[in-house]
Amino acid sequence: MDRLKSCIRNIPDFPKPGIQFKDITPLVKDPAMLRLAVHQLIHPFLGERLTAVAGMEARGFIFGSLAAWDLGIGFVPLRKPGKLPYNVQTISFELEYGAATLEVHMDAFGPGDRVLLVDDLIATGGTAAASCELIEKLGAEVAACAFVIELDALDGRSRLKRYPVHSLIHF
Ligand code: AMP
Repeated sequence: MDRLKSCIRNIPDFPKPGIQFKDITPLVKDPAMLRLAVHQLIHPFLGERLTAVAGMEARGFIFGSLAAWDLGIGFVPLRKPGKLPYNVQTISFELEYGAATLEVHMDAFGPGDRVLLVDDLIATGGTAAASCELIEKLGAEVAACAFVIELDALDGRSRLKRYPVHSLIHF
């Protein structure tokens, strides 16, 4: 995991003062590190019955779709408002600064589905908690949540107590 961690670039004060932005682009550019990250991300779930991976816009799409490919299941994008062309289910939630909304196609999941939620990073856990609620609104079950990076001090996993939470790199 130290090799993965060394590929994360810290950008101070981006996108606003006080934020230490964790830039994953050096990791995803390196083929060996990208493969390692995706393998480690899905490893705990290899024996589980999963029907889909859901990933949040935008960096969740990178790791989520590769995880889905590796697991041999489909990928569902959770998108910012106004991007999805068909009927949507919506959830709005509070972020550290301001509010946000995510949408998913109404027919993306249903009862009987077991979903692995994937994002690049968990900070306060607000985005992931809202994403789980959105998946459950469609009648599906969240099997687990997986993140490449976890910011331990923000204790985002305390908002995901109902689910197994797996993360690779801790800051
Ligand atoms: P949160 O809802 O607070 O857990 O924030 C998680 C979402 O915001 C993820 O989709 C991350 O990509 C993004 N994010 C939050 N904090 C950072 C950070 N320090 N560096 C990079 N991305 C971040």
